[in-house]
Amino acid sequence: MAGPTHSDRFGAEGVTSPVRMSEKIAIIGAGLSGLAAAFKLKEFGKEVCVFEKSKGLSGRAASRTRKGCRYDYGANYFTVESNEVAHLLFQTLPTEGLCRIVGGIHPFDLTGKISAGEPQRNSAARWTYREGISTIGKRMVETGGLKVMTETRISRLKRTRGKWQLETEGGAAFDDFDAVLITTPGPQTIDLLEASDLDRTVCDPTVNELKRAEFVCQFTVILNFPGPIPLPGDGYALINSDRLHDIAWISHENRKPGHVPEGESLFIVQMSPAWSHHHFNRPVDEVIAMALTRTADLLGINLPPPNWADVQRWRYAHPVSAADQCSLKPVSAFRLFFAGDTFVGKGRVPAVIESGMAAASQIIAHFRE
Ligand SMILES: Cc1cc2nc3c(=O)[nH]c(=O)nc-3n(C[C@H](O)[C@H](O)[C@H](O)COP(=O)(O)OP(=O)(O)OC[C@H]3O[C@@H](n4cnc5c(N)ncnc54)[C@H](O)[C@@H]3O)c2cc1C
Repeated sequence: MAGPTHSDRFGAEGVTSPVRMSEKIAIIGAGLSGLAAAFKLKEFGKEVCVFEKSKGLSGRAASRTRKGCRYDYGANYFTVESNEVAHLLFQTLPTEGLCRIVGGIHPFDLTGKISAGEPQRNSAARWTYREGISTIGKRMVETGGLKVMTETRISRLKRTRGKWQLETEGGAAFDDFDAVLITTPGPQTIDLLEASDLDRTVCDPTVNELKRAEFVCQFTVILNFPGPIPLPGDGYALINSDRLHDIAWISHENRKPGHVPEGESLFIVQMSPAWSHHHFNRPVDEVIAMALTRTADLLGINLPPPNWADVQRWRYAHPVSAADQCSLKPVSAFRLFFAGDTFVGKGRVPAVIESGMAAASQIIAHFRE
């Protein structure tokens, strides 16, 4: 799509600069909110650079390959709830390998009693990709031709004469940005802002608003067994409905085409936030052993020894409350913008894509004014 034309103007401080073809925007975080924002900004002709601390793309919409298996160990599936997200995922990005997950989700309670899932809820389409859910971010990067600097953790921001400079822990600096969009989980955003050289009138109210978004931690334990082991009710997943069980979610990665070779079973076990908080610093082997016992209890069977297991410790897994994006509008005068599930209040792939697109629209509108 051709980007709209515009003249370069500087609002907050009345600083002028030579007219150039497009504003230069830095995005911190290559999760789905950051990449969705980058994708839209690029469509509108902006020059965008995404900075990502890890090696991979898509953040908590994470997939991994191990011993011939592909598995989604952060977000396990996504739904599509708005036309904008549907258009992006089903029309703009290539759909090769996109697959609907077959099988219901059945609730269980504190006592481990499993009941039939709600038919209406279970009729909703749930999606992933053969190559894993992280394909969404990879496709946005490939299709949009996005520039992403991985293994680049931004540790400090500085604003001089209307331009933003980003610094890494190692002292590398990236400068001359007209705007910065931060998409990291709220607590990490607070750390970044507090370590930065910012006007207190910008920093303090922003930090106070971001503190409203509380995040919980979570362990994901991945268990691979020999042989076929179906879940009770032969569904896709079990979910703890009263949020009192040590296990929050178990799903069968076999339900996703191309993820698990025949003759093996792979379970994604997400421990509850309370359990995860209590055991957060325990060694990985102990976490696996405890998760294995609780899984066998819940399934009511003797599980064979696993072929292998894997663990992911998510320090900031999900927000349980939201910060208000509108309250941060005054900060946009300084060309500092925010997106991500911090402003959604729960962890949801479609909602963070929308949040990234909304932030991109805000930036586009800002430079048009
Ligand atoms: C265990 C688990 C299960 C989930 N299950 C589901 C599900 O089934 N369905 C669903 O829809 N959602 C689910 N979610 C929620 C969903 O994954 C998230 O809401 C969504 O992926 C968050 O996207 P984001 O862009 O807001 O943040 P992130 O994905 O966290 O992206 C932020 C990025 O910023 C990077 N970063 C952080 N600090 C810096 C820095 N200083 N410099 C540079 N980069 C930095 C991070 O590495 C990360 O890549 C789940 C999440 C978890 C953890």
